[in-house]
Amino acid sequence: MKATPAEQQELLRLQSVDTRLAQLAHRLGVLPQAGALGELATREDAARRVRAGAVGTLEDARAELARLESDVALVEARIVRDGDRLTHTSSMKDVNALESELASLRKRRSDLEDQELAVMERVEEAERAVAEIDYEHDGIAAERARLEAERDEAAAGIAVERDQSERDRAAIASAVPEPLLAFYEQRRARGGGIGAALLSRRTCGGCTITLTGSDLEDVRRAAYDDVVQCPECDRILVRTDESGL
Ligand SMILES: [Zn+2]
Repeated sequence: MKATPAEQQELLRLQSVDTRLAQLAHRLGVLPQAGALGELATREDAARRVRAGAVGTLEDARAELARLESDVALVEARIVRDGDRLTHTSSMKDVNALESELASLRKRRSDLEDQELAVMERVEEAERAVAEIDYEHDGIAAERARLEAERDEAAAGIAVERDQSERDRAAIASAVPEPLLAFYEQRRARGGGIGAALLSRRTCGGCTITLTGSDLEDVRRAAYDDVVQCPECDRILVRTDESGL
């Protein structure tokens, strides 16, 4: 393939922009916030599970408290009823029976009230546990929001650089003849992102091999407008005053 030295040197500028674009794509893929955000998501999941358990405990305790309150209400209703009967009876037998029942109802009410107090403590404890988890979760959510904003800002900054590099690339590529550009693209695809390299002091900038013997002679003999390739890595070798030929 033939191309003027100036056209060949444009490939080095193109390569430099392409390398930059590859670095920017890599940076976008490995933003430093990604790891921390993944860790936060795990902690958030764990907090959600712990919260579900704590809410279950709280609901159980509240249900038990409601049952006890309704039991107390029933007992109190019976105490009122028996007290009412007691004031309206003249039978000694009934009086004895009612007083005995009232004594046992009052004992029952006192027992239920003791249980109520114990369950109220459990309700308060469970409420505190849920509040603590909510507090922890709020902290995680705030940290996540902060990291997401930081990540988005970093990504936006990289996108601006990428857009600029893409414009640079289009401008450079438009000055390179189509067949040379296609050849460069093919070499770049096969050369791990590097299609053209400067030959500097007889050394290939792509694979760092130094040309000697017949390989060096071949490059020396090539016409100024021949597009030469590295005998080792096949990348386009661009010759300049620095090439040491
Ligand atoms: Zn090479």
